[in-house]
Amino acid sequence: MKCEQMLAALSDYIDGDLDPEFCAAFEEHMQDCDPCVLVIDNLRKTIRAYSAGKPYEIPAELHDRLCGLLREAWERKFSISN
Ligand SMILES: [Zn+2]
Repeated sequence: MKCEQMLAALSDYIDGDLDPEFCAAFEEHMQDCDPCVLVIDNLRKTIRAYSAGKPYEIPAELHDRLCGLLREAWERKFSISN
């Protein structure tokens, strides 16, 4: 699985709507991909702060922030500079 797919599936993952097979691939990806772990970790913290046990939809603003986080993490990890 690619990081882009991870990001695209994030909201389903958070909602618990992913099918088990995809979910397994998701968890497996996170074992090898530090940037994605960082992003998920941040997302979980943010969601805890946002909603107390209510059904949760990722606002566009938060999605943008996550994309930014992921990009930053990648740049740190792979030392991409531009
Ligand atoms: Zn990844």
